[in-house]
Amino acid sequence: VLLPGDSTNRVFALQLRHASGKTLFAHLSLSMIRRADDAIAGMVFNVVDTELEQVAQRELQIFRDEATRANSAKSAFMSRMSHELRTPLNAVLGFAQLLQIDNENLKPKQNEGINHILAGGDHLLRLIEDVLDFSRIDSGHTPLNLQRFSLVQEMQTALSMVSLLAEKNRITIHSPAADSADVIGDPHRSRQILVNLLSNAIKYNKPGGTIAVSISTVPDLMTRICIKDSGRGIHPSDRARLFEPFERVVEPHCRIEGTGIGLSICKKLAGLMGGSIDFDSEVGIGSTFWFDIPTASATDCESFAGDATTPA
Ligand code: ADP
Repeated sequence: VLLPGDSTNRVFALQLRHASGKTLFAHLSLSMIRRADDAIAGMVFNVVDTELEQVAQRELQIFRDEATRANSAKSAFMSRMSHELRTPLNAVLGFAQLLQIDNENLKPKQNEGINHILAGGDHLLRLIEDVLDFSRIDSGHTPLNLQRFSLVQEMQTALSMVSLLAEKNRITIHSPAADSADVIGDPHRSRQILVNLLSNAIKYNKPGGTIAVSISTVPDLMTRICIKDSGRGIHPSDRARLFEPFERVVEPHCRIEGTGIGLSICKKLAGLMGGSIDFDSEVGIGSTFWFDIPTASATDCESFAGDATTPA
């Protein structure tokens, strides 16, 4: 009695020579056919030509290499351009500032013009700094200073950095006193993430709105900072675009300042520190963004790690 279900399958990679002399690549699978008493009754050899598969894999590798090369050329170009633009722009801003200081002989219209130069120049400078930062991170040239630090302390510094903006937009920030939450990461880059999330919560809030900040521990030994705003919210269909560089989900002619690159930088930085960023939102009600970062364990000391360069 033949029992095909009892056959044993194994697959071997083969290199064969065709009668024409051409080398062929194939997969050989071997099935044992056994009788009821488990004795081998026969074998089935199944040879599949994998030439096409190999060609596809080689082509895929070529595309991958080209994409990697194009990506690093793009990063190098962005980095170079940002450097080239920064120098003349600093001169424009510097001289506009001098004119503003020495403005006794200027007419109101001229003063207004200088303010426009400074506002536009500041925006452009921030954009250039962001592009430079993004291209550095993207090309793996961001030195991270990983160490144990107090996330609460960095949060407090970040809060003081955005306090003027909050005041200007009439936003009240509630940040309950929290126990010191020690984490492992780069303190400077963590603060950068927190400032970006807080600035967004202020910018995209409604006048007189609120922000609530909280810290908690979450599974997988992570510490989470949540920043909850009472702003315009984000439509589910815009979710995927939010972390893409240069994507802004705002109405045309929106006067809220921004470059659309902050969240993509934050996401990359959080990932490099072993953490993550995500959000929940309801249109018209508000959004909650959170930043997860690895919690320090009792054995992680101050000198947990030295400088670490991001992998390319
Ligand atoms: P931007 O410089 O435009 O603020 P970001 O990368 O920080 O750039 O944010 C990308 C986009 O995500 C913003 O342009 C905005 O449309 C949306 N966004 C970010 N944070 C919030 C928030 N708290 N509430 C509503 N929309 C937000």
